[in-house]
Amino acid sequence: MLLDLKPLFAGKEASLPVDFSMDLSDLDFSGIKLLKSPVKIVGNVISHAGIVEADFTCRVEVTAPCDRCFKETVKSYSFKISRTLVTNLENEDTDEMTVVSDMKLDLNEFCYDDILLSLPTKFLCSDDCKGLCPTCGQDLNKAMCSCEEKEIDPRLAALAELLKD
Ligand SMILES: [Zn+2]
Ligand SMILES: [Zn+2]
Repeated sequence: MLLDLKPLFAGKEASLPVDFSMDLSDLDFSGIKLLKSPVKIVGNVISHAGIVEADFTCRVEVTAPCDRCFKETVKSYSFKISRTLVTNLENEDTDEMTVVSDMKLDLNEFCYDDILLSLPTKFLCSDDCKGLCPTCGQDLNKAMCSCEEKEIDPRLAALAELLKD
């Protein structure tokens, strides 16, 4: 979606509302499609005292298996994108500035990197997920298994034998 910023840079318009969705459902992250639901972006581009600023809130819904128990989990979160838009750079810091030389803002391109950077590197169904038993695969959130008892150090088992007498 292209946003025409000319009226803002010309000072004719003070604010342009932005409300759009980005379909990133085809993006593949090592075989997992994390963004099954469209990313929603709302906010404004505001012109204030000759400075044009984009102020957006992105709402992301991530669907992925839990890192520990592999249960499919959906988590939503939102984050902000705030950046000054300039038509050219004059030895200025570029991190918080985006150059729109033709006064058109490609919203998809503008938000894309920030959305990818916002994706969680760790993904858990809950912070205290117990995961799966490495021996039998039992989901330890649902029930305990009996593997731990069987895995007693053989030396300790021998000692236990001795102490019995
Ligand atoms: Zn889990
Ligand atoms: Zn087990």
